[in-house]
Amino acid sequence: MDKQGLNDTMNKTTIWQVQLGEPATALSLKEAAAVLQDGGLVAFPTETVYGLGADARNTAAVQGIFTAKGRPSDNPLIVHIASISQADELVQPYPPLAAQLMKRFWPGPLTIVLPVREDKLSPLVTAGLATVGIRMPDHPAALALIERAACPVAAPSANRSGRPSPTLAAHVLEDLEGRIDGIVDGGATGVGLESTVIELADDRTIRILRPGGITQETLRAAFPHAVIEGADAAESEAAPRSPGMKYTHYAPQGELTLVQGEPAKVAAYIRVEVEKAKQRGETTGVLAFEERIAFYEGDLVLSCGSENLLEEAAHRLYAALREFDAAKVQRIWAECAPEHGIGEALMNRMAKAAGNRIIRLQ
Ligand code: AMP
Ligand code: MG
Repeated sequence: MDKQGLNDTMNKTTIWQVQLGEPATALSLKEAAAVLQDGGLVAFPTETVYGLGADARNTAAVQGIFTAKGRPSDNPLIVHIASISQADELVQPYPPLAAQLMKRFWPGPLTIVLPVREDKLSPLVTAGLATVGIRMPDHPAALALIERAACPVAAPSANRSGRPSPTLAAHVLEDLEGRIDGIVDGGATGVGLESTVIELADDRTIRILRPGGITQETLRAAFPHAVIEGADAAESEAAPRSPGMKYTHYAPQGELTLVQGEPAKVAAYIRVEVEKAKQRGETTGVLAFEERIAFYEGDLVLSCGSENLLEEAAHRLYAALREFDAAKVQRIWAECAPEHGIGEALMNRMAKAAGNRIIRLQ
């Protein structure tokens, strides 16, 4: 790919359809891995969202990720590996708690930030930090691709910076067609929200930098003797501990407002606001739980499933935000989710998507 002219030149983006057990899949993954080895950019499915991958040792390739996404260069990238021994080559020796976390949650949506070994990764990956975030994705196509490429794969979400993360290959195309070499299309992703990012404050303290697919409750249950610091603590610090925290994220093009409170009051409030916006001639959207969906009369009303099934809401969120964009909705109101389990990560992403515009009804 012509990295120089990326902004002006459209390149062809190859799409490889993959499906486990299909004979053509092995060949597709071999081709995609060869592109990575050549310093190209390949988007691939994981169990969280689609990632945009490059050889994490190759600075020109990693620069390509930042250029294609329009990502600020001080926001480090997560490195994806296919085995614990591959991780061991990239980071300094770590405490038993880190080893236990890897064993318990990898492959899976947990990114562990650890001190990086010198000269193993492009300095662009770590954005100049002394640490690197590493994870092993729980997706057969992702693991096969990384194994075949035989390199650590730096991969942020495969969206233009600031946009909702892609949960379908079509979302990746929407944002990055012509800007990347290829997409491994493995269908819809699972969790639908990004990984949980943690660091170890000391040998027994797990600090959550970004809530995600592995919930705080799950961490507590697995490590009852560890101290677990929630993401709130990390987010309220003046200097963000996870550099990505300071950027606007996941935002739809329309103005999104979250409404929190007793469900009946929330529904009544949103109905009135939608009506007022319609009077002003604005196109309106509502994102709500199935239980109350019939109350709303916006131009586009989307359900995120039952409020008793927050996993489903997590799975649907980003696709819904993109649907509002496709329908050119100008004002969107969303019901808030209860903040337990995956609801914590869900509300974290929704608040960022809304630029923290949250109406709290008494
Ligand atoms: P994404 O932009 O979806 O790739 O998310 C990556 C997240 O992981 C961002 O919030 C980064 O700030 C965070 N992250 C990656 N590497 C590190 C690191 N070494 N230390 C702290 N946070 C990191
Ligand atoms: Mg992202």
